[in-house]
Parts: sequence; structure tokens; C-alpha cells
Amino acid sequence: MAAEKHLLFDTPPDFRDQVLSFGVQRVDALFITHPHADHIYGFDDIRRFSTLQQQHIPVYGSAETLRMMHKKFDYVDKGYSFDSVPRVQFIEQITPVAVGEAVVTPLPVEHGPESIYGFRIDADGQSLAYIPDCNRIPDSTMELLNGLDAMILDGLRPKAHPTHFNITQCVEHLNRIGAKRSFLIHLTHDSEHETLQSKLGSAVTVPWDGLKLEL
Ligand SMILES: [Zn+2]
Ligand SMILES: [Zn+2]
Repeated sequence: MAAEKHLLFDTPPDFRDQVLSFGVQRVDALFITHPHADHIYGFDDIRRFSTLQQQHIPVYGSAETLRMMHKKFDYVDKGYSFDSVPRVQFIEQITPVAVGEAVVTPLPVEHGPESIYGFRIDADGQSLAYIPDCNRIPDSTMELLNGLDAMILDGLRPKAHPTHFNITQCVEHLNRIGAKRSFLIHLTHDSEHETLQSKLGSAVTVPWDGLKLEL
């Protein structure tokens, strides 16, 4: 059996709490959707994984994402001792890339005025896509979302927002994409979990921290 690979998407500010709470043991590759604070400010804790694994961890992102990572985490490039900073290899990547037996395809989307990325992961004949921040999905990206087992999509809040889908827009897109299972994420405190879930019915799941998805 091929060695399992552990892929990580974004390092939010609570990354440390999440990996401790849910016993994450390894990170073989990190993919960053975009360099907004809520998606990258847990990045420093990657150093524990690079230390334990004694390796540089590949970090994939667009040119703009990597430019901002170098700016916000400039100390990473300064050559301190191995375990005091994250040891990573930044890789500019906007085309599909293989990690072990998985193929990760970057998905261009619009997030207000910015062009950023979600990711599609195909492995063992199963597929999942993750687009956490977006208010428009170009037709060319919609075509990359065919035949999914699971789709995870931004649905910020009930009210309109200039850079995110609201709940109605998210559900419309989830319906158009037509994955076997659909998830609405990036919620604000404007929504109460149980109330929203009962309103959406069984077609769309409102996930929770620690949710494990078996495909
Ligand atoms: Zn964002
Ligand atoms: Zn965000």
C-alpha cells in the first residue's frame, strides 16, 4: 500500500488549537488559497511539523500569495536554527500538481477585487473541492467542478457581501455544481448552526470543527 499523504489547506489563526484538538500528526504539503489573515495567521505553527518530520514542507500558492507570505513571514527566509521557524519550500503553482497519489488542481475564483484560488483534490477515484472565499466562480472554473463527491463552498451570511457569496448565492451554486455532498462554510455569527441547518434541509450540510468526511 502506498504511503498516506496528509494535505493541509490554509493555516488559519486557530491552526494550532485545531491540530492539537484533532490529533493531526503530519503535514506533507500545504496549499494556500489566498493571503488574507483568517487563512494564514496560524502559519508559524508549521514549524512543529517541519521539526518533527525533519524536512522542508512544500507550500503551494499563486505568485501573489507567495509574495505576501514572504512579506508577512519574512523571518522564515532568514536561516535561523531548524526548529525555531517553519522550514518550508514555497512553490508557485496554479496548475494541477501530484502529491503522492492525489492530484490537486487550483481553481481560480473571484473574491471581490482579488483573483484567488480554491482547490480540487482527486484521489483513489474520489474527488472533493474547497472554495472558502469567493463571490464569483468563472465558467471555466465551474467546468472544473464536474463529477465531485463533495463540494465545500463559501456562504458567509444571509446579507449580501462585496467579497463573499451570501447563503442564498452559495446554495444556488452548490445546486448548480451538483456534488454528491455539499457543504456551506465560512459562516459568521449572524447564523445559528441548528436553525440554518434545519432551514437548508438535507441537501446542504453546515459543517462543524472536527467533522470527518469519508469519501
Ligand atoms: Zn479572504
Ligand atoms: Zn476568509
